[in-house]
Amino acid sequence: MLKPEFVQITRQNKIAEDEFYPMIVAMYEQIWQNLLPPQIIPKGLSVKRSGNVITPPDAPVPDCLACGACCAAMLCVGVRPSEDENLSAEEYWDITIEGRENEITVDRYLRRDAETLVCAFLQIETGKPTACKIYERRPRMCHDFDAGSDKCHALRRAYGIEPFLSLDEMSEALGKLDDKPEKSAPEETIREVKFVETETGELQILAYLNNGSTNIIHTFDPQAEVWRQFEFDALTLSEAARLIDSRKNKSE
Ligand code: SF4
Ligand code: SF4
Repeated sequence: MLKPEFVQITRQNKIAEDEFYPMIVAMYEQIWQNLLPPQIIPKGLSVKRSGNVITPPDAPVPDCLACGACCAAMLCVGVRPSEDENLSAEEYWDITIEGRENEITVDRYLRRDAETLVCAFLQIETGKPTACKIYERRPRMCHDFDAGSDKCHALRRAYGIEPFLSLDEMSEALGKLDDKPEKSAPEETIREVKFVETETGELQILAYLNNGSTNIIHTFDPQAEVWRQFEFDALTLSEAARLIDSRKNKSE
């Protein structure tokens, strides 16, 4: 059943991060309680066909126009600073930190539909293909999600769009996942990033790693640089450093 707090939050343009992230957890639970139990947890599965471990290379690529599972299930579709001009303020939520003189946006996500919780731009009218209404303007996160990736198939199975794996297929898939070489030790990747204001009004980007350590990875003036916390999700420290350098080099 639709929760009033979801309706309230989907009507706002700016949401304080202390309010937003717990609400996302509640929305996630609401979505998954109506899905089939996932055989394989989608988190961590490849979103690129080139990174597939489970799906055979010759498996047919599913038709997105008859699906929409990823647009329904993945709640936080981030808008990068370079994509801001593709969208208008009514099309996204700004996630802010308060308690400072000038409010600051720390994350920006596409809006969700208040009733269904699916991406606000997913066309799901009866008798029409399941299309993206902003296909040409969709964020990179959507571009980067390949139809036919392991995560795509896992979500489609959870929505009942394609059949579950057989016991033999499950056992083979779990074996392949166990054997998969990690690109880096999971404990060396960033679990969470927080922007914290310094006494001089600059922002520090604090990276909390899975190994329990905390690192200051960048300090910036919010009037001069724009960053979003989600951009650092699951990166290693060296990948985060490369991202920061690449943006600095572009602005020089
Ligand atoms: S990428 Fe996969 S899950 Fe997403 S709409 Fe296309 S077929 Fe469905
Ligand atoms: S913007 Fe389009 S492709 Fe991206 S999640 Fe929304 S409906 Fe799907």
